[in-house]
Amino acid sequence: MGRYIGSVCKLCRRESEKLFLKGNRCLTTKCAMEKRNYPPGPHSRRMRPSDYGMQLREKQKLKRVYRLYEKQFKHYFEVASGSPGVTGHKFLELLETRLDNVVYKIGWASSRDQARQMVTHGHVTINGKKVNIPSYQVKAGSKVALTVQGARSKLLSINESNKHSIPPWIQYSAKTKSAEMLRPPKREEVETHTNEQQVVEFYSR
Ligand code: SF4
Repeated sequence: MGRYIGSVCKLCRRESEKLFLKGNRCLTTKCAMEKRNYPPGPHSRRMRPSDYGMQLREKQKLKRVYRLYEKQFKHYFEVASGSPGVTGHKFLELLETRLDNVVYKIGWASSRDQARQMVTHGHVTINGKKVNIPSYQVKAGSKVALTVQGARSKLLSINESNKHSIPPWIQYSAKTKSAEMLRPPKREEVETHTNEQQVVEFYSR
């Protein structure tokens, strides 16, 4: 299945929750969830979902937050389920440590889509080497920085001027415009409004 190219606000409305997919607009009254907080479509109704329905919605929500294809998303689950530790936590850890997500968390981009574009356009380096793969898995101890061109971007200065809290597993230096991933995130440091256990149960059926 191809990438969803319709209105991302419809995805929030479908999940009945703000997924913050449009950067700064999500924090304004222009947010579609402020104006039309009901599912899209002419016959939209909210019915009590079955157990399967709830698991499916949690899976869709998490996949949409990280803006992934089903195939990529399921792949993360398979890697997580074959790793030691709690599958749900490992799953979130893999999603959080994607390079595009790390760029977003640093605050260089206002949304994960924008972060993905920064990476694919070659504005980001890892340990001094340019990396243009958004799914690149950032390791503890890795240094993430911007290329000269990336550091000059107007969008970057706009995003940096917005108030943004960087998670404790990333250490950022505004002076050098670089960050170090200190360690993988702990579960409580991952801000998803998703019950990852439901996602695990969905794929374990
Ligand atoms: Fe979702 Fe942002 Fe659109 Fe609001 S503005 S509906 S949070 S994507």
